[in-house]
Amino acid sequence: MNTYLCHILIQQDRPTRSSLEVLTRTRELARRDGTRLAACVLHPEAERFVEALKPYGIDQIYLVQHPVLSQHLNAPVLAALEAVFQAAQPTLMAFPSTEATKDVLGALAARVGAAVLPDVAAFDTGASVTATRPVMAARVLADAEASEYPVLVSIRAGTYNAQPDETPTEPEIVQVPFTFDPDTLRATLREVLTGTTGQVDLSEADVIVAAGRGVRDEAGKQLVETLARELGAAVGASRAAIEAGLFPASLQIGQTGKVVSPTLYIAVGISGAIQHVAGMAGSKVIVAINKDPDAPIFNIATYGIVGDLYQILPLLIEEIRRIKAGS
Ligand SMILES: Cc1cc2nc3c(=O)[nH]c(=O)nc-3n(C[C@H](O)[C@H](O)[C@H](O)COP(=O)(O)OP(=O)(O)OC[C@H]3O[C@@H](n4cnc5c(N)ncnc54)[C@H](O)[C@@H]3O)c2cc1C
Repeated sequence: MNTYLCHILIQQDRPTRSSLEVLTRTRELARRDGTRLAACVLHPEAERFVEALKPYGIDQIYLVQHPVLSQHLNAPVLAALEAVFQAAQPTLMAFPSTEATKDVLGALAARVGAAVLPDVAAFDTGASVTATRPVMAARVLADAEASEYPVLVSIRAGTYNAQPDETPTEPEIVQVPFTFDPDTLRATLREVLTGTTGQVDLSEADVIVAAGRGVRDEAGKQLVETLARELGAAVGASRAAIEAGLFPASLQIGQTGKVVSPTLYIAVGISGAIQHVAGMAGSKVIVAINKDPDAPIFNIATYGIVGDLYQILPLLIEEIRRIKAGS
């Protein structure tokens, strides 16, 4: 029986939302195609995450447990993925598309002799694997096809919904033997610095409040951060807002920043330049706040508020606080 395998990423002690989205889509295909659904977790204590995966209807969970997997380092992650691939022999291996995934996908494909469809928005299986891939700053959607199995595919967050299975299974647990000599590492990760702005990880966030050049000073920045805090949202920014020095570069959304696809994206003082839209067009609901009624952001917005953000944000914050207080 063929196997479709999903790589589950762990962040903040749980499977990432984008991993569960990929898993849900792969389960749908596995059920339709009559293949086995497998998942793999690479983590020093991978076993701890089995419980969280049980509702997703997985037949087999491959675990690679080693202390070197506590952080993402290309060499051990690549070796661990290769070990899982050899153990599971999947026809399809699906990954959430992240910077870390991009770093290892090509090398893994070369090692296991697979085709790769990287960073796709949607994919399907059949005689071949077909995918839709946003290119040229998402202005064009390319149809891509891998005509021979096995295939590795990485999928952008936000296209599919993460949904537990109606009939949860008791998965078979497979411990994959893995040895890695840390002395052979040619690169080490000494420290991960997290920005002071925004407590929620942008690429995993369900709600994002993003600031543009219209947010012109510290008072505006505080309004954006307060709104984000009240909504439990992540803070993002356009390149112009970052170049103005108000937000760190790690928060940039767009062609040369992060690609996000939250359920709700609130664009505050952002014009909607194509390079920004390339990073957020996949958001499910877009609310734009802009004083210019002709700003291009309104062309893609679900809801538009025309007005001065310095007047609108205090009203929004007040209203959200009132609703949360139940009055
Ligand atoms: C190769 C390349 C890559 C790029 N990559 C990126 C990228 O990854 N991400 C990105 O964001 N940009 C990127 N850019 C830059 C991009 O082209 C735009 O310049 C940028 O997105 C503009 O940011 P903005 O919308 O915040 O600013 P602006 O275009 O200046 O828009 C500001 C908006 O705020 C509104 N406004 C002003 N004051 C108020 C107020 N008080 N209340 C309400 N609204 C107000 C204005 O009406 C205006 O619409 C890239 C450019 C290039 C050439």
